[in-house]
Amino acid sequence: MFLGRIARFTQPLFRRNLHITRKLNQAMAVDGNNILAESLKKQGIEYVFGIVGIPVIETSLALQAAGLKYVGMRNEQAACYAAQAIGYLTGKPGVCLVVSGPGLLHCIGGMANAQVNCWPLLVIAGSCPEDHEGIGGFQEWLQVESSRMYSKYAARPPSPRLIPLHVEKAVRYASAGRPGVSYLDMPATLLTAEIDEDKVPLDYYNAGPIQLAHPNPELVEQAADLLSKAERPLIIVGKGAAYGRAEEAVSKLVEATKVPFLPTPMGKGVVPDESAYCVSTARTQALLQADVVLLLGARLNWMLHFGQPPRYAPDAKVIQVDISPEEFHNSVKSEVAVHSDIKPFVEALSRKLSEKNFSLAPTSSWWQALSEKQKKNTQFVEEQASSKLLPLNYYAVFKAVQANIPRDSIIVSEGANTMDIGRGILLNNKPRHRLDAGTFGTMGVGPGFAVAAAMWCRDYAPDKRVICVEGDSAFGFSGMEIETMFRYKLPVIIVIVNNNGIYGGFERQVMEDLQASGDLAQCTPPTALSTEVRYEKMMEMFGASGHLCRTVPEIKAALKEAVKVTDRPSIINVLIDPQASRKPQAFNWLTESKL
Ligand code: ADP
Ligand code: MG
Repeated sequence: MFLGRIARFTQPLFRRNLHITRKLNQAMAVDGNNILAESLKKQGIEYVFGIVGIPVIETSLALQAAGLKYVGMRNEQAACYAAQAIGYLTGKPGVCLVVSGPGLLHCIGGMANAQVNCWPLLVIAGSCPEDHEGIGGFQEWLQVESSRMYSKYAARPPSPRLIPLHVEKAVRYASAGRPGVSYLDMPATLLTAEIDEDKVPLDYYNAGPIQLAHPNPELVEQAADLLSKAERPLIIVGKGAAYGRAEEAVSKLVEATKVPFLPTPMGKGVVPDESAYCVSTARTQALLQADVVLLLGARLNWMLHFGQPPRYAPDAKVIQVDISPEEFHNSVKSEVAVHSDIKPFVEALSRKLSEKNFSLAPTSSWWQALSEKQKKNTQFVEEQASSKLLPLNYYAVFKAVQANIPRDSIIVSEGANTMDIGRGILLNNKPRHRLDAGTFGTMGVGPGFAVAAAMWCRDYAPDKRVICVEGDSAFGFSGMEIETMFRYKLPVIIVIVNNNGIYGGFERQVMEDLQASGDLAQCTPPTALSTEVRYEKMMEMFGASGHLCRTVPEIKAALKEAVKVTDRPSIINVLIDPQASRKPQAFNWLTESKL
């Protein structure tokens, strides 16, 4: 019966009938599905990612009929990651459409990830018919309550007439101020309820665009004063600057003042990584010795070591700029805290600094100290990357990848060492061109992000490529999305850096010896995965073939071939030394404050 229903839904004739039905009194009747679809369209929503089933199959068809793009994925979590990545890339929330109960619950990890990263997202879930609530309805769950902790706004429209109001509000909450998550709950009874079309209040469709928040001029003056008197100033560029489309303003500021800057992982590319003023290769020293830090759209959380000693000087002064004043003075007290969009603030600051003729001399002791450190660190990476030893180490793999991909590619990356080491070697010279595990450190995001990025490229930058660099463990979380990439003909290049495990695994013989030593569940190392898994063979499920690489020339040849393919994904499985690791660090990556 169920399959019969689905077959009927997908018939084009039914699809037409579904759109609008004529009632006996000749007034045009419209149902909840179509009101929802039209409301989303009117709000400028373009992309929906999801998995359909009862009761949202008709919803997905109504969305397509309204002109939205619907991408069906293989796991709700991945769909949710894709929807939030499109939100970050376009500035408009992506929609994640899922079924009731488990469908929504699978999304929760994705919702938390979007909230924590401050990315706009609108999750819409079907829910069981309202007259089945409380008596054990199919997939019945407290969905609004479950979503509340993971969203800025969570509601169930009380009637079809009020759907446009809630859609407008949900989109506004997801986009305005600090971006985040909205949730709309759509019971089956609401989706199928019909009302006269002329009773749907169209004026909710017309909310205007949100204006940029401008800074208080007094605070701009104070910031300019502090920065121009600093001996060792440092600019930190976060993904708030990327999301706020502040790239031109921030690049001009850096060029004019010659102040060294450090991008956060997803702040990379706001100012090109290849800029002479980027001091990523002297990151530890830059943080440790800066006397004034200009923080542009980044939080002083674990990723920036809380802004505290021992990673910063105890008397370092912070100029904090954020769209969200709740963030001010969160882990250290900021000297100047400016509530503003990054772009207008940076433009105003640049004007003030140019009035003061401020520019840091390349011969200053600050630049000299940083340059020296940069040279030393670059030399270490170069040595590692040029190593001829097999199996390969991470540095050699990333050097080969960087040399053989288009320079303006979008890099999606996740994994532990894979992501950390790759961040330094895979360069971003354009904003919003890096998507990774982010503030929440979430594994499994890669394929979903890559699907969204490739959709965006097809529509807005057709020559641009998406390179998805995955650790082998990370790839396992959402690897089945390769089918989604095939179905939508998305030419994502997936590079799996395969070291047989989480952090690191074992060589075949070592693994066999370990497993032979006792009960399998007691002696298989928890970090280990099977040795030399042939992930590239997943391509064969679709009649294509993948690449297995053990050497630099093999990586180069595989990438050359993959770049030519434009209508399907590629998998390049690179087997590396299972014990390969990263450069010894001055501080453990999670160094706590000693305060
Ligand atoms: P990163 O991961 O790069 O360190 P975070 O996610 O920690 O970045 O911080 C991003 C910050 O940027 C958040 O505090 C958010 O409120 C802020 N933000 C987002 N958009 C804007 C904008 N348009 N202008 C200013 N700040 C913004
Ligand atoms: Mg691994």
